[in-house]
Amino acid sequence: MTTAGTTQLINPATGQVLAEEVNGTDEAGTDAAIDRAHKAFRTWRTTAPGERARLLRAFATKVEQNIELLASTEVRNAGHTIGNARWEAGNVRDCLNYYAGSPERLLGKQIPVPGGTDITFHEPLGVVGIIVPWNFPMPIAGWGFAPALAAGNTVVLKPAELTPLTAILLAELALEAGIPDGVFTVLPGKGSVVGQRFVTNEAVRKIVFTGSTAVGKQIMAGCADQLKPVTLELGGKSANIIFDDADLAAAAAAAPYAVFDNAGQDCCARSRILVQRSAYQEFLERFEVAVQGVRVEDPTREGSEMGPMISAGQRATVQRYLDDADVTITGSVPDGPGWWLPPTVVTPRSVADPVWREEVFGPVVAVLPFDDEDEAIALANDSDYGLSGSIFTGDVGRALRVARGVEAGNLSVNSHSSVRYWTPFGGYKQSGLGRELGPDAPYAFTEEKNVFIAH
Ligand code: NAD
Repeated sequence: MTTAGTTQLINPATGQVLAEEVNGTDEAGTDAAIDRAHKAFRTWRTTAPGERARLLRAFATKVEQNIELLASTEVRNAGHTIGNARWEAGNVRDCLNYYAGSPERLLGKQIPVPGGTDITFHEPLGVVGIIVPWNFPMPIAGWGFAPALAAGNTVVLKPAELTPLTAILLAELALEAGIPDGVFTVLPGKGSVVGQRFVTNEAVRKIVFTGSTAVGKQIMAGCADQLKPVTLELGGKSANIIFDDADLAAAAAAAPYAVFDNAGQDCCARSRILVQRSAYQEFLERFEVAVQGVRVEDPTREGSEMGPMISAGQRATVQRYLDDADVTITGSVPDGPGWWLPPTVVTPRSVADPVWREEVFGPVVAVLPFDDEDEAIALANDSDYGLSGSIFTGDVGRALRVARGVEAGNLSVNSHSSVRYWTPFGGYKQSGLGRELGPDAPYAFTEEKNVFIAH
């Protein structure tokens, strides 16, 4: 049996150790929790749809009543700005309310066939294992557990080692809301112990993994052994494409927030900016003003726009990209302790530069010019990733042509939105497999069963 260990949690904005101590779950503890979730599945799947809906709404209400607690906990544990953290807790509430509408609407079909009646059912899978990264601990958890629970599954969820606190709170709120014991269980611990056991334990019938592409590939290979379905939400290197017919002032004002939000630790970060050559200089001048205007400060302060990086290790990883880069614009950073790094703009020497090709996962953006639509699409697609992207133009035909041409799951025109719980979210190529959110998400947590009744 592997041991679990305790993770020391640190406030990334101050470097101070947090009071909370979280014990990691070991392999036996993981198996015991999966077993409880498996037993709870028998009653949860047969709970009347309206009752499941009511319990999910009650859970949403508990989240709503605890938004300040959840948000302030995330600020301390992950360094998120208080504004972002409130939005994130609100997003969990919204996902629960949205998917509370689906237990009563999980409709099958009646298919015309000769000799009888044919009907289909969407049956829940069983225990779903959700593995969450540290960059958006609350929303990413909710995008998995809300539709999974709505479809009648039970859930075991492993938060990232660095950021377990809000997930633990959410599990407590679920119990307070009346969600039965074993239906939603949070198991803090190591990926190599808890996460790995989700993959190998046969009672877990689906894995939802969000994290790095390297670990995602390992999980997929592990799931192959039992043909266990898997949804993967992985890395990104998304392009923000700005044409010379765009509202350049608006494009330049918005661009910093498309990459420096959450200190760039965002899988959807538009970390490559492509600007049409005829607008390149004007864009850069406006962009410099916008980058320097980003409020990088104590994340507990109202109005703070960017906090610290998650850890000293992550900051060192990002700094290595900058050691050998042509930095053209640098934003501000507060003095004192904490894992701070300023918003940074670099000009790559070629498209082979690591800072242009690799997911830096920090407040760093690389900018290059392009000449025409075809070149913009080719540059955007010259990546192993394909998660998000933005297109700024005044020409709606061009916006649609380019949106159709870019190989990415989530495109945004004259804006930078990627994740809306009403719409499907996921990646092309090595950014992922499958989709989360949107109206169809609960179906991804079901098997479609066909029943033929002879007349
Ligand atoms: P990571 O892959 O190291 O870890 C993610 C989670 O997987 C953690 O909970 C970790 O404990 C667990 N894990 C690690 N090894 C495991 C194993 N062998 N078996 C099972 N579980 C294991 O990623 P990270 O560093 O926490 O997060 C950053 C990465 O996540 C970035 O690459 C980012 O792009 C990606 N990400 C993607 C999305 C998306 O929706 N596409 C969202 C957020 C983050």
